[in-house]
Amino acid sequence: MSMSQPSPAQLADSAFNTAQKQFDIAADLLQLDGNLRDILRNCKRELTVHFPVKMDDGSVRVFEGFRVQHNIARGPAKGGLRFHPMVTLDEVKALAMWMTWKCAVVGIPFGGAKGGVVCDPKKLSLSELERLTRRFATEISIIIGPDRDIPAPDVNTSPQVMGWIMDTYSMAIGHSVPAVVTGKPLSIGGSEGRLEATARGAVDVIVEAAKYRQIPLKGARVVIQGFGNAGSPLASFLHQLGSQIIAVSDSSGAVHNPRGLDPSGLRMYKRETGSVVGFPNSEPIDPMRILDLPCDILVPAALESQITGRNADRIQAKLIAEAANGPTTPEADEILTERGVFLLPDILCNAGGVTVSYFEWVQDLQSFFWDEGEVNERLERIMIRAFRSVLQTAEQYKVNMRTAAQVLAISRVAEATRTRGLFP
Ligand code: GLU
Repeated sequence: MSMSQPSPAQLADSAFNTAQKQFDIAADLLQLDGNLRDILRNCKRELTVHFPVKMDDGSVRVFEGFRVQHNIARGPAKGGLRFHPMVTLDEVKALAMWMTWKCAVVGIPFGGAKGGVVCDPKKLSLSELERLTRRFATEISIIIGPDRDIPAPDVNTSPQVMGWIMDTYSMAIGHSVPAVVTGKPLSIGGSEGRLEATARGAVDVIVEAAKYRQIPLKGARVVIQGFGNAGSPLASFLHQLGSQIIAVSDSSGAVHNPRGLDPSGLRMYKRETGSVVGFPNSEPIDPMRILDLPCDILVPAALESQITGRNADRIQAKLIAEAANGPTTPEADEILTERGVFLLPDILCNAGGVTVSYFEWVQDLQSFFWDEGEVNERLERIMIRAFRSVLQTAEQYKVNMRTAAQVLAISRVAEATRTRGLFP
């Protein structure tokens, strides 16, 4: 990341503000009453833990972690777990709130949650990572469970990490509980198609958006910020549709080739070297500069607050597809809307991951597993339905796609809350 940009910590501090600002815009449009507003714009539960981990050299380090449940009106809390040196409670609260809206937009019966551990997994050995994960799972076991709160992968967490959480939770209870996490390896109750689900779902809605805005995907120039769980398979899917991936970044740097990069080669190269930097037949480029490269589709697939009031006017893409959570600030939203850039908001665009997590949870509970074709087909149906509902809401309220998705989601959660009534 270039020095002129605010550090992730500075940006993370404002993530919950961003989430609440987005909420307020939609709540105003819905004329939501004050009580409901207070309930929905705050997080229900916020757990902070500090826990010791024995390091390989025999020393003990204390780590900080969080699990936040924003809302459980429509079902158990659901959301990923990230390992990142800059994770903050504020950020996790925002991410938990976005999960509530995301599940509501696609109509799956979950509330929203998120977790994070402040650590740099790249600097931990595999056994340190396992001990950290298992101890953190134990610390949050007081609030997670297959009908309470179901973690999943997010930034820097993998199927293996989910496997350790499943095992740790199961050992404490005395029997296997696969449905306590999703995004697990297939061998222990994972779902076909989960690994690429975020990317596949994003492509489903990119295809719809491209049709709607008449942007041919064949030959479209695509820039992808972030080459992880979402960005990396997304590059391959778009490439298969004939698009050209002209620039890609990750946490170490960025590469550029106006004639197109080979996504499968890039994936292999990153697996071997740990980064996209230095990929053959590419030029290095400032990672923040890739956002304003001339292109047709821009895919932020990394962290929050990347498209801001400072750079939104330089973006040249016609379509922005938010594979990341919270990559665009409200100030940037205004600028982009004014400039006519079509934006697929995070809570719609990246909902494929949690949708297939829902399928995984259902399969685990029933011990009845589906083939990949069935998973992908059901996913596509849900994504297209959600896209159409959001677009229809945008037309009805004459608002951009972000606000439309928020309006749709918040109205569903508000309806559930009203119907349940206030306890006691
Ligand atoms: N971390 C992903 C997200 O932000 C997936 C969450 C899940 O599958 O529960 O949507």
